Amino acid sequence: MGAPPQLTAHERSAALAKAKESRQIRSATKIKIKSGELSLSDVFTLAESDSVIGKMRVSDLLAALSGVGKIRATAIMERLNISPTRRIQGLGKHQMRALRNEFSPSQSRGKLIVLSGPGGVGKSTIAAYIRKHGTFWVSVSSTTRQPRATEKDGVEYYFLTNEEFDQEIAKNHLLEWAHFAGARYGTPREPVEQGLSAGKNVLLEIDIEGAKQIKEHAPEAILVFLEPPSWEELVSRLERRATDSPERRAERLQLAQEELAAASFFDHRLVNDQVENVVQKLLSLASAH
Ligand code: 5GP
Repeated sequence: MGAPPQLTAHERSAALAKAKESRQIRSATKIKIKSGELSLSDVFTLAESDSVIGKMRVSDLLAALSGVGKIRATAIMERLNISPTRRIQGLGKHQMRALRNEFSPSQSRGKLIVLSGPGGVGKSTIAAYIRKHGTFWVSVSSTTRQPRATEKDGVEYYFLTNEEFDQEIAKNHLLEWAHFAGARYGTPREPVEQGLSAGKNVLLEIDIEGAKQIKEHAPEAILVFLEPPSWEELVSRLERRATDSPERRAERLQLAQEELAAASFFDHRLVNDQVENVVQKLLSLASAH
């Protein structure tokens, strides 16, 4: 390595003044990022033509973003394989795209909310309400059970034959699937992925076994266990369900009892007192996470 260039006193003071000015520009930029005046994308654009901003450290940029901070910035950079000392101008195309995806509001991923609970607790009523009011995008499951009189293919469920369901499993088209009361139920993967990538909050109304599988594969999912106001209430709801045969009702009751006991791995528990209440609470949970 050669000796550093000999600077005249004048050159040295000009360089120091320039460095000071650069620091001031970077710190003013950070303030604008903190206040939300500049987005990550704005800073990337500025960095293309302004080398002072281009020389800003990526870690400083991320840490200045509202709600991020140093620890999360470090974790994000590690995950995206960005060196801790990298400056904006040194970012590769893919790294820039990954960072934009992570932070741009229109492209940030939606939340995956899993609503589960014992059969008969009223999950499907909540899901129907949410579907009607467009509160979340509600996934349509595939099932091998027979449609009930009021149900339409593609609305409440996709009604598949056993062979069709086997195909869905073989092609890895299901995000999760489970046996329930003599039939199989599963969540089609593609529409859920598309919804989340488009920034939509997605609701799955599924049984407890399916919720467990989602937790394993998508730990960021918000798992909500819906409880009946009381056990007696649940029994009477299942008794009133005229669409089931007596054997099916007994099976469902037995299962519901086991399911109530197995709720410990859920992130939240909500009592199904009133549909509007539950929907409101689900909304708060989605925005709080
Ligand atoms: P039902 O036959 O009464 O519509 O639903 C029976 C059970 O299957 C309910 O507990 C419902 O939440 C669950 N279920 C519906 N769709 C799915 C799914 O895609 N996956 C899983 N694992 N369970 C589901």
